[in-house]
Amino acid sequence: NVPLSELDPEIAAVLKDELGRQRDTLEMIASENFAPRAVLEAQGSVLTNKYAEGYPGRRYYGGCEYVDVAENLAIQRVKDLFGAEYANVQPHSGAQANAAALAAMITPGDKILGLSLAHGGHLTHGMKLNFSGKLYQVAAYQVEEDTFRIDMDKLREQAIAEKPQVIIAGWSAYPRHLDFEAFRSIADEVGALLWTDMAHFAGLVAAGLHPSPVPHSDVVTSTVHKTLAGPRSGVILAKQEWAKKLNSAVFPGQQGGPLMHVIAAKAVAFKVAAGEEFKERQQRVLEGAKIIADRLNAADVAEAGVSVLTGGTDVHLVLVDLRNSTLDGQQAEDLLHSVGITVNRNAVPFDPRPPMVTSGLRIGTPALATRGFGAPEFTEVAEIIAAALKGGADVDALGARVKKLTADFPLYPGQEEW
Ligand code: PLP
Repeated sequence: NVPLSELDPEIAAVLKDELGRQRDTLEMIASENFAPRAVLEAQGSVLTNKYAEGYPGRRYYGGCEYVDVAENLAIQRVKDLFGAEYANVQPHSGAQANAAALAAMITPGDKILGLSLAHGGHLTHGMKLNFSGKLYQVAAYQVEEDTFRIDMDKLREQAIAEKPQVIIAGWSAYPRHLDFEAFRSIADEVGALLWTDMAHFAGLVAAGLHPSPVPHSDVVTSTVHKTLAGPRSGVILAKQEWAKKLNSAVFPGQQGGPLMHVIAAKAVAFKVAAGEEFKERQQRVLEGAKIIADRLNAADVAEAGVSVLTGGTDVHLVLVDLRNSTLDGQQAEDLLHSVGITVNRNAVPFDPRPPMVTSGLRIGTPALATRGFGAPEFTEVAEIIAAALKGGADVDALGARVKKLTADFPLYPGQEEW
């Protein structure tokens, strides 16, 4: 029963340092969040000791009576949260949920049509080095060069020409709502299945602040740790008719024993996401993103060659276009890091720079909203980012403003260590 700090001081130091980093900086990576203390408790629990291959009531191991309760709660809660007929809460990650979804829907050699990685899609939507690009034939759609939006008429023409078995709706970097009804009608017209990967915007859907793909899609996958603010993991939702195929695609198709500690933590996260506080928080997520987009659209920022892709945002992130700026994505990421703001550089569609450098930034508001930020704080954050990206700012002075915000909104207050 030796505590971590005694047994392994080196790893204990990593936890302490990382907690300090999260506390003392502004986390604006759009795919990150802060899981509530209760989620961390469930995830760091004795449930990690339990093997439970199979599904509740049908396990290949004894002693599953309590973990069954956790998994059934997670399933029921996520079905209720999204109005889904079926849920599988076992995927270890978003990528594994996606692998299982495709394995259930089609067979290797079939064709998928998803948003190109370079235009905001995800690796698992057909990137050539990923399983999705290796197992399946891939056709990719793009955003338009003038609007940076997906043109549904063009997508329809492409779907008719390509005849994919699966059309993928969903993204990792796209600041606008998708038209799920149009996706459905195109899929029906060409005889394809519709899979939506709502990993990024699931929290907004749960709060009723984003159109839901669930009624329109055959299968919906998600991560649980982005806007949903739960443990790092994945989930699959679908119409009941997919239950058997999806269950078998996850286990034994893709995975062995489920991570029961993570599944318990998912159940906690889904409970939180059904509450009023969560909804109010997602409103601040959206408000914060709009404040940042508006500030970065202003004339003084535009003069420095910095603009906002699509001119704004409907979601929790803002994509910054640096193609006309003296800063590239790497330099802008480093500059914001030096003032204490963590973002990630991100290729913009039609990016002239290589993927390790890029000409864009992806800035997200979920983690800061979880920290308690509202309009006044996001306005201050937007000012700091604008000042940094315009160039010539006093980095130390901006850093001091970041420190004040982090001090005013303590993260995991009262928690000495983790
Ligand atoms: N799907 C989308 C749209 C994502 O953005 C991501 C993660 O960035 C994933 C799936 C994969 O999730 P994970 O990192 O948990 O495998």
